[in-house]
Amino acid sequence: MISYVPKIIYVDPSVLNSPITKHILASYPDIPVEMSATQPKFLNEADRFKDPLLEGKKRLWITKNNGKLLKKCGASTSRLSNMVCCNYYILDFAFNCHFECVYCFLQEYTNQPLMIVYANIEEMLASIQETLDCSTSNHIRIGTGEMADSLALDHVTGFSKHLVPFFAKQKRAFLELKTKSTEIGHLLNLDPKGQTVIAWSVNPESYVSQFDLKTASLEERILAAHQCVKAGYKVAFHLDPIIALPDWKGAYQDLIDQLLDQFEPAWLSLGALRFNKTLKNIIRKRFPRNPIVTGEMITAPDGKKRYVRPLRQDLYQTLLSYIQRKTKKVPTYFCMETETVWQKTVGYQPASEQDLEAHIVSSVALSS
Ligand code: SF4
Repeated sequence: MISYVPKIIYVDPSVLNSPITKHILASYPDIPVEMSATQPKFLNEADRFKDPLLEGKKRLWITKNNGKLLKKCGASTSRLSNMVCCNYYILDFAFNCHFECVYCFLQEYTNQPLMIVYANIEEMLASIQETLDCSTSNHIRIGTGEMADSLALDHVTGFSKHLVPFFAKQKRAFLELKTKSTEIGHLLNLDPKGQTVIAWSVNPESYVSQFDLKTASLEERILAAHQCVKAGYKVAFHLDPIIALPDWKGAYQDLIDQLLDQFEPAWLSLGALRFNKTLKNIIRKRFPRNPIVTGEMITAPDGKKRYVRPLRQDLYQTLLSYIQRKTKKVPTYFCMETETVWQKTVGYQPASEQDLEAHIVSSVALSS
């Protein structure tokens, strides 16, 4: 795994006194710092670089998120395409990631090629509390791993030191920290009281080395998961994106056996590879020889490129059979899939997003 070291840090003066800002600046005592009340001018100059995305990642901007801090997952708000949703909330704490997963959708944000950390942590916690106070759900899942990896910079930002204790006091909410890193140092000194789940996105090791560039290897992720279990955390795994290379059956069987021989995850999710058309062109440009864009894909009603439905069903049915050979106790769901795929694969679809949400958290809700 490659550690992140920026070449410059821009700081918005409005968050200079935030504990997150202080944590970052103390972590990088030798990196030049520039105060910047407006967006750094690099954003207007990025186009002159051969790979603006790569160049932008070398610059870290600590600022304030003035938008909606806690929002519903994109799938939950896309009603047009009959997606089955799980009532997931996302805390917008950062944007961009120094890892280079070939399929990462963040590459599409070509006008924002900076590493951005939002440091207004107090407002984030207040926003979560307000949502919890207004919600009638008994098991809200809130994650941070949508526009950034949840933990890749945690040793630098210290976000988990605020979030884990906050959720430890909650009775009706779970925090999910989703990652491909091993940055769990802060977590090991905190008591999650059953309310934080650490989730690793995983793929067979040979896929990780081809597609999850600069991330922790599968073996390193598994070792980190063991350390988290020992420290009192529940762990979960996302087999996402599932990639249909010619050897996928054997590769995923080995992966699932490896995981379920060692862990009883809080949940497992399955999500077949998908991306927007524009992303396909970006991948071709940035990773010209990568095999990820070579398979046959169709444009689905949600506008995304996806494997054809029979292949997706085959992927899900096969992986589910591997899981069920090992255990029937782990809640498993499809991420961002259509009602038709649910029906044709498992013969039903969740009655509502609350129904699916309750299914996913059933193992942690019982034990907390
Ligand atoms: S870890 Fe996640 S956010 Fe980071 S590059 Fe990979 S897919 Fe993107």
